[in-house]
Amino acid sequence: MEQDRKNRIRAYIEAHTDEMIEDICALCRIDSVKGEAKDGMPYGEGPYRALMAAKDLCERYGFATKEYADRVVSADLNSGERCLDILAHMDVVAPGDGWTVTGPFEPVTKDGTIFGRGSSDDKGPAVAALYAMRAVKELGYPVSKNCRLILGSDEECGSSDIQHYYAVEPEAPMTFSPDAEFPLINVEKGQFRGELTASVGKGEGNRRLISFVSGDTINIVPGKAEAVVAGFAEAEIRAALNAVMNEIDADYELSFEYDEEQSETVIFAEGAPAHASTPENGVNAGVILLQLLAQLPFDSEEMVTAIQGMARFFPFGDHHGAALKIDICDDLSGYTSVSPDIFRGDSSSLSVRFDARTSVAATEENTILAAKACAENAGFVFSFDFNPAHAVAEDTPFIHTLLSAYTEVTGKEGRCVAIGGGTYVHGLQNGVAFGAVGETTDTHMHGPDEFMLISELQDAAVIYALSICELCR
Ligand SMILES: [Zn+2]
Repeated sequence: MEQDRKNRIRAYIEAHTDEMIEDICALCRIDSVKGEAKDGMPYGEGPYRALMAAKDLCERYGFATKEYADRVVSADLNSGERCLDILAHMDVVAPGDGWTVTGPFEPVTKDGTIFGRGSSDDKGPAVAALYAMRAVKELGYPVSKNCRLILGSDEECGSSDIQHYYAVEPEAPMTFSPDAEFPLINVEKGQFRGELTASVGKGEGNRRLISFVSGDTINIVPGKAEAVVAGFAEAEIRAALNAVMNEIDADYELSFEYDEEQSETVIFAEGAPAHASTPENGVNAGVILLQLLAQLPFDSEEMVTAIQGMARFFPFGDHHGAALKIDICDDLSGYTSVSPDIFRGDSSSLSVRFDARTSVAATEENTILAAKACAENAGFVFSFDFNPAHAVAEDTPFIHTLLSAYTEVTGKEGRCVAIGGGTYVHGLQNGVAFGAVGETTDTHMHGPDEFMLISELQDAAVIYALSICELCR
C-alpha cells in the first residue's frame, strides 16, 4: 500500500515533468531581483511580476489563492483546518558575472539540468512543492486538513514580505521551507553582529597609521588587507613582519613596499576568503595584518593601545570567540563562530565589524554582555545587533514524517542538521528547512551558472507529496 502510493505519485510526477520544467523556466525568465518600489509593487516590478505569474500557475491547477499586501501569495490545497504551510519565494539575488551556459534569465535545460537564476533558489523548489500539491489532489488522496503554499517576494533582502503575511495570519502548526538542502535543517544559529570602534587623538609624531583597510562585506572573511604606515625604518617593518610569520602558521602571503623618500610603507596581506559562518575555511587577511600592526611602536600611545587591544580580541585562528569570551557551545548547534570581516583604520580611528553565528545556548547575558564588557573595558565603543538562534525539537511526529518520506524516496538516511546561516523559517515556532536540493549537490545558488537537477526536483516533489498525504490526513 505505502509502496503503491509512492509509485503512483512518482509516476504522476514523471508524467508531468515536462510541464513542471516549463513552469519553472517561465518563472526563471522573469528577472525578479529587488528593484525600486512602485505603486502596488513594494519590491519593484520583477518580484511582483514573478509573484503574479506564480499565482496564475496556482489558480490554473485549481488552488484557491490569496494576496497579502502585494508581497505574498498563498494557495490552499483545500478548505480544511490549517495544518501544514510550505514557505518558498519568487525573488532572486542579482545575477552577477560569469554565466557560461546561458544568460541568467534565459533558462535552458541540458543534460538533465535546468540552468538559470532562481532554478534552485527558489523557483524550482517552489514549483516542485506546487506539483506535490497537484499530485495529492489529482490522484485523489484523502486529505482532510489544509496544506498551504506560501510564496514570498523579498526573501533575499530581509524577508519583510513574510512579516506582512504573519501580521494577519497565524503560523500553521507545522511549516517547512523548500529553500535549502535535504535532509532537514532544524537548528539555525543566531546572528550577532558587533562593531568595536576606538577614536584616538591625532597624535603628534611621525610614526603613524595612515590607513588600514580589509574587507567590505559583513558576512565574508576578508581575503586581502592593506595598510599604509609612515615614519618607520625598513628594518622595523621587517622585524614586525618576521614576528608575525613566526607566530602564524597558515597559508598566506605577507609583504611590503618601502618608499624611502616618503618614509612610507605599504603592507599587504593575502589569505583566503570564506563565508563568515565557516571562518575555519578561510584565512583572514585582516587579522594577519592587524597582528603585524600590533608589533609596531606608533608614536600615539592611544593608537598602540587600540591596535593591541583589538589584536588581543581577534587573534589568528580564534574562530569561536574565545578571546571575546563568547565561545559558547552546545550539543544542538556546536560552537558559536566569530569572523571579524571589516577593518578600517587611519591616524585618528580604528574599527572592526564582526559577524558571529551564535549557538542555541548563547544568550544576551553570556554573549552580548560578555563581548560588550570586554570591548568597553579595553576602551572601545561597542554597538551590535542580535537575532537569537532558531531550534525545533527533533523528536516529534512532524520531523519523523518528513525524514521518513525523504528516506522512502531517496533510500538515504534522514537526519537533522544545524547550520550557521538563517533560512525563511527562522522566526517560526515549528518551522524547518527541508530540501529541495540534494545533500551533496552544489547548485551555485547566488553564483553564476545556478542550476537545479531535474532528478532532484522529481525526488523533492514526491517527498513533499508523501509528506502532505501523511501530515494532512
Ligand atoms: Zn532562497
